[in-house]
Amino acid sequence: MELLERGARCGGALETIRRDGFVIETGADSFLSEKTSAAELARRLGLGAELIPTREIYGKTFVVRAGRLVEVPAGFMMLATAHFGPVFLSPLFSPLGKLRMALEPFIAARTSGDDESLESFVTRRLGREVLDRVAQALAGGIYTADPKRLSTTATIPRFVEMERRHGSLFKGMRAAERARASKGPEVSGARWSLFQSFRNGMATLPETIAARLGGSIRTGAEVIAMSPTADGWRLALAGGGSIDADAVICAAPAYAAARIVSPLEPAAAKLLGGISYASAATVNLTFRESDFEGPPRAFGFVVPAIEHRRIIAASFSSFKFEGRAPAGAILARAFIGGELHREMMNLGDDEMIAAVRDEFRALLGVTAAPGITVVRRWPDAMPQYDVGHLARVAEIERLVAPIPAFAIAGAAYRGVGSPDCVRSGEAAADTIFAKLSTPK
Ligand SMILES: Cc1cc2nc3c(=O)[nH]c(=O)nc-3n(C[C@H](O)[C@H](O)[C@H](O)COP(=O)(O)OP(=O)(O)OC[C@H]3O[C@@H](n4cnc5c(N)ncnc54)[C@H](O)[C@@H]3O)c2cc1C
Repeated sequence: MELLERGARCGGALETIRRDGFVIETGADSFLSEKTSAAELARRLGLGAELIPTREIYGKTFVVRAGRLVEVPAGFMMLATAHFGPVFLSPLFSPLGKLRMALEPFIAARTSGDDESLESFVTRRLGREVLDRVAQALAGGIYTADPKRLSTTATIPRFVEMERRHGSLFKGMRAAERARASKGPEVSGARWSLFQSFRNGMATLPETIAARLGGSIRTGAEVIAMSPTADGWRLALAGGGSIDADAVICAAPAYAAARIVSPLEPAAAKLLGGISYASAATVNLTFRESDFEGPPRAFGFVVPAIEHRRIIAASFSSFKFEGRAPAGAILARAFIGGELHREMMNLGDDEMIAAVRDEFRALLGVTAAPGITVVRRWPDAMPQYDVGHLARVAEIERLVAPIPAFAIAGAAYRGVGSPDCVRSGEAAADTIFAKLSTPK
């Protein structure tokens, strides 16, 4: 087995910098616990004891509303809630907006099974305010996406299913809550938080795998084409040279996969090339606790596009997870860019830091200069799941299936989260074993 990686290190969007007692995540900082493949892989690698939950005592998330931080109402999940009480008491919505939300159980369910955008789904069921003031930032923000284009069936299937089964998100949320309660505290209880990470950062996972693979990793190896040989494949590398293989899993982004697949299956290449990507950047800053008037004892905040600010979200990493900063210090990070703020990617590193400092000053009252600053750009790193995404992926899979000893994997297809990507890689490995064991 050989792993060919274009860059200088393995891990892609999982990258941790450990410096002066800080554990700084430049890419993904956590993963969903309920999707178990990442944690299961970690346990198989002997990393079970390294998994850590979020610090639930700081488990608040804020949203920026009219230039101030407002707590997301208790029980509110991305775009819906099972309890109107906290929503009615929240300053996040206007009286009319609250009234519109309360009508949700009485809005007829959509009968068409066609895919729909996040914007259409949320405005239809809950009204414009929920989209503009919270759902665009919370749900769309995960994909750094434009809600006009973001597919609901590919990104929030649970809510689509609630409408289909219960006729209402409110009723669906209530039913889900009852189902959780009936399973008792053992199952629904607090052994694991909603998100988890690794004690020494997310890069623990790829670093451990890389250590196991040892000499079979080739960095600086960008695959640009693939052609059949008598008993397998020849992979051409950028800058010359090639590698022969019995079987190939292509886990590169869809645009790179398109190029590789193009001579073999042009129709699949066209569909792969049609998956667009957004770019983003993270800016990590360290502070002293005394730099804050009241330290932000919360996981972080999201910033709706209607607020016209220069960051799209921020995490208070050292409150979210234990051990991210030395005593008395705070590690915070901001997200910049995404599909709705493409212009921000034109800024230089110092300008990005200045923009984040301006926003932290305005929203958190921090005027002190940060200690460590780390800017990390992620160009074309976030696949955009546009309306029709799942149909596109099903067609890609159908076209790729007959290609012998070949499979695709990665964030472009059936989930962008780290557990989805682990599952996708494992499914691709299963496909390869099945193809190799089928007589030609
Ligand atoms: C900034 C950021 C924050 C995120 N936060 C979270 C989070 O908190 N939680 C979560 O669950 N998910 C998060 N995600 C999403 C998740 O981390 C990614 O979707 C996932 O890690 C992507 O994995 P991947 O292997 O598909 O792609 P990548 O991680 O992008 O890896 C693809 C690799 O392929 C290499 N490559 C590209 N082309 C070629 C080629 N032609 N030949 C050889 N190699 C090539 C690249 O260099 C790269 O190393 C985040 C993503 C980003 C970018």
